[in-house]
Amino acid sequence: MTKQVCIRNLKIGGGAPVSIQSMTNTDTRDIESTVAQIQALEAAGADIVRFSVYDEKCAAAIPHIKERCSVPLVADIHFDYKLAILSAENGIDKLRINPGNIGSFENVKKVSACAKAHKIPIRVGVNSGSVEKELLAKYKSPTADALCESALGHVKLLEAAGFTDIVISVKASNVKTTVEAYRKLSGLCSYPLHIGVTESGLDEMGLVKSAVGLGSLLMDGIGDTMRVSLTGDPVREIHAAKYILRALDMEKSGWVDIVSCPTCGRTTGNSEEVIHALRDYISDIKPKRHVKIAVMGCVVNGPGEAREADIGIAFAPHGAVVFRNGVVAYSGEREDMLRRFFADCREECMK
Ligand code: SF4
Repeated sequence: MTKQVCIRNLKIGGGAPVSIQSMTNTDTRDIESTVAQIQALEAAGADIVRFSVYDEKCAAAIPHIKERCSVPLVADIHFDYKLAILSAENGIDKLRINPGNIGSFENVKKVSACAKAHKIPIRVGVNSGSVEKELLAKYKSPTADALCESALGHVKLLEAAGFTDIVISVKASNVKTTVEAYRKLSGLCSYPLHIGVTESGLDEMGLVKSAVGLGSLLMDGIGDTMRVSLTGDPVREIHAAKYILRALDMEKSGWVDIVSCPTCGRTTGNSEEVIHALRDYISDIKPKRHVKIAVMGCVVNGPGEAREADIGIAFAPHGAVVFRNGVVAYSGEREDMLRRFFADCREECMK
């Protein structure tokens, strides 16, 4: 099990639920836009939000942003140790900074002492695009070994400064390199790991890369906090992260799982239309538990899947059969069955 660190009241590692995070893409100095985006991320379910702090104005914005947001906030800083200290003094909850990039060891000691005094953790975040020249020369490319060696080099500097509230990431844009790097790293240290596939790209391809990469790691029990990186509105990253956790039965809050068949020549009902209508019909409900609903297109595979759900419907020629908790609840003419099924799905989601 990994060591546990706290970012305000949120626990990372040590068996705590995997937290999900994203990063704003507003100009941090534009407080209104940044707060609006953080609040949208909070509403979508983000546990942590990070923003860039690249000058003193960004650091000065921290208290004004923090007073209007409830989620723990992370300052993303490169090269400038003074900005890290200023961010900590201005109330940031966590720093992302690589101590090997901030000049002398004296600077590392200053940042470490400041983070310790403010009780905030530091994430060492190595990306395939920012591996040091010497390591690129040694490994020829940003391999998994290069990423791990780079990250552990930064970690050693913090440890030498007496600081151990550390989270580590080793992200590559290549999924296989990312997975290999985290697998190696998890065997080399016990710090909590922030997992992600960096620069995974646009839309479906970005989603698939993240799902494959993060899913593989989470299935191995690796990953204490996660970010899905997608180009565009960061709220989509939170939705995607939740879907990945749900697919692995790791979602900590209640949700509705609509299991539906892909449809085929045997389909006797308009499953797709029904699923969309059902999703809209129950979209206002926030269930307290994982509710499984099945919508199946025929009575070949339909009853088996519907029986496994809390409530399920299998279409038959002109009619439908509804199952609740593994047994047939009712069957009959399709429109009538759909009306009852929809009402019972709402009831099931509100239990
Ligand atoms: S459940 Fe029936 S309709 Fe749906 S894909 Fe399977 S065989 Fe086809």
